[in-house]
Amino acid sequence: MPELPEVETTRRGLAPHLEGARVQRVLLRRPDLRWPIPPEVGECLPGQRIDAVRRRAKYLLLDTAAGSAVLHLGMSGSLRVLPADTPVKPHDHVDIALAGHGAGRVLRLTDPRRFGCLLWQAPGEVHPLLAGLGPEPLGDAFDGEHLFRLSRGRKAPVKAFLMDQRVVVGVGNIYVAEALFAAGVSPLRAAGQVSRERYGRIADEIRTVLARAITRGGTTLRDFLAPDGAPGYFEQELSAYGRGGEPCSRCGRPMRQATIAQRATVWCGTCQR
Ligand SMILES: [Zn+2]
Repeated sequence: MPELPEVETTRRGLAPHLEGARVQRVLLRRPDLRWPIPPEVGECLPGQRIDAVRRRAKYLLLDTAAGSAVLHLGMSGSLRVLPADTPVKPHDHVDIALAGHGAGRVLRLTDPRRFGCLLWQAPGEVHPLLAGLGPEPLGDAFDGEHLFRLSRGRKAPVKAFLMDQRVVVGVGNIYVAEALFAAGVSPLRAAGQVSRERYGRIADEIRTVLARAITRGGTTLRDFLAPDGAPGYFEQELSAYGRGGEPCSRCGRPMRQATIAQRATVWCGTCQR
């Protein structure tokens, strides 16, 4: 599943091709993805200039004067800029044909499982899916103090607290496991019982692990122009995620595994307290 680093890398890959280009037409090969595609996408987008490609949480927004297309890649979605005559494959659901400096190319949305979405946000409004989201983990509003304040009195495991999109956006299962391992904090500990100092460490590690994944993602940017290149999810050296039962990289004892909030959770019972 695309996580925040993949979505940010997608944004960085698309922006040079889309920003400043004009939308020539929108071709919807089906009326819905996870949700119906609203009529504004087909009615308002053509003729508009794409002013910016933005990311909020795991949503991508194509900003125009008439409003913003809101895209989410779901479980299996990808976006590529391709020559307009690139043959269409079964799961290529949407083409946004470009004019201006993007002439001759299309932005193609492919999504085999259709958990992604294409929605519309009117100018000056915030789509309901984006309202109420917590701060960006790589932005200035996110730090240990923010986590400490929000967590007082909370009995939920700190792992579940950090994956709550109202607390901070885009910290998925992989990254929360890695950040808690690096910070030495057990994912099972009640969120309200983690100290201010340890939340400072957790916030730093979340930033570090996400920034490192985004840096790695830079090497896959060429895929955005390759018709057959599936966008790569990043090869990463992981210390916790997916390593249940394997020896801890710090102390050598077997990593423990349990299910928290329906997600597999791996941690070291010795190094993480
Ligand atoms: Zn250990």
